[in-house]
Amino acid sequence: MIELKQLTKEYGKGDRVTTALSNLNLSIEKGEIFGVIGHSGAGKSTLIRCINLLERPTSGEVWVDGVNLTSLNTQQLQKERRRIGMIFQHFNLLSSATVYDNIAFPLRIAHTSKETIAAKVNELLALVGLDEHSDKYPAQLSGGQKQRVGIARALASDPEVLLCDEATSALDPQTTDSILKLLLDINKRFNLTIVLITHEMHVIQSICDRVAVIHAGGIVEYGPVTEVFLKPKHVVTREFIRGEASGNELLQQAIHATHLAFSQAVKITFLGETTYGSILSRTVRETGVDFAILQGTISTIKDTPYGQLIVRFEGEQEGIIRTIDKLVQQGLDVEVMA
Ligand code: ADP
Repeated sequence: MIELKQLTKEYGKGDRVTTALSNLNLSIEKGEIFGVIGHSGAGKSTLIRCINLLERPTSGEVWVDGVNLTSLNTQQLQKERRRIGMIFQHFNLLSSATVYDNIAFPLRIAHTSKETIAAKVNELLALVGLDEHSDKYPAQLSGGQKQRVGIARALASDPEVLLCDEATSALDPQTTDSILKLLLDINKRFNLTIVLITHEMHVIQSICDRVAVIHAGGIVEYGPVTEVFLKPKHVVTREFIRGEASGNELLQQAIHATHLAFSQAVKITFLGETTYGSILSRTVRETGVDFAILQGTISTIKDTPYGQLIVRFEGEQEGIIRTIDKLVQQGLDVEVMA
C-alpha cells in the first residue's frame, strides 16, 4: 500500500545540512495499523510528512497504492492527496468555523454538492460521537472532542490512508485511550490503512499491528508489535519498553544470586492462549526443579494477551536444562539470562 524507497531528506544547505532521513526503506500493508516510534528529533515527523509530500524528500520515492507520488505534477498530486487523510497533534482546526464547517471544509474545496456534504458530515458526526456538537466552535470543545473533529474531517474525502502525526500526544491518558479506540474502530470498519507516529510505547501496544523504531533518520528495528515489543533487539527499542530487566538493580541482584549451588535465571514469554495456562507448574512437577519468581507481568498487545515471567530455576543442572527444553517444546519463548 505504501512504499518508501531509499528516502533521504535533508534540511538546509552547504555546511548547515541536517539529514533528517537517510536512505530509509519501509513497506506498509493495506488495512494495517503501522506505528513509527522514536525519540524527539529521530525523524518521525519528517517521515510521516513525506508520505503525502507535505515535505518533499531530497531523494527517493514515495509510492501509495501503486502511484509514485514523487513523479506527479502539482495537480495530479492534489488529486492523489485526497486519498490520504491526516490528523495532527494540535488538531489544526479552523477556529472561526463550527464543527460542521470544519468537517465540511475538504468537501467544499472539492466542489461537492450541498446535499452530499450534509449527508456525509452528519454521518461522520455520528461516527465520531459529536452529533450534539455540530454548531459549536473549536474553543468550546475538549481536546478529545477537537481530535474527533480532526478525524471526521480527515475521513470526509473517504481516504484509503490515514496519517496520524502524534495525534494523542496532547491528550490525557483516558482521552488518549478513547481516541485510540476510535482509530481502531475506523480501521476495522473501513479497512483503512493507518500510519501513526508517536514517542509512546503505550500507543503502539494498544492498536498497532506492526511497528518501526526510528533513530537518527533510519529504521533500527521493525516487525510485528508482538515480536518487537516482547523481544526488543536494539537499545533504543529497549529504552521504550518500561521495566526492562537491565535497568532494574534489585532484579539484577536476584538474577545473579550466587549462594546457590546451581541456578539459572530465565525470562519466559507466554503469548496468546498459553498466557492463561499452567504450563510452568506442570513442567516443574515433571522435572523436579524448583523456581523463584523474580518479576512478572501480564498485559495485552492489541488483542493478544501475553505474560512475561522472570524466574530463577534451582536444582540439578540437567533438570534445569530439561525444564527449559520442555517449555520451549510447549511453545513458550525462554531466554536464558546472563
Ligand atoms: P521527530 O518528529 O522525531 O522529533 P523531526 O522529523 O521533526 O523529528 O526532525 C528530524 C531532524 O530534522 C531533527 O534534527 C530536526 O531538528 C531536523 N528538522 C526538522 N524539520 C526541520 C526544518 N524545517 N528545518 C531544519 N531542520 C529540521
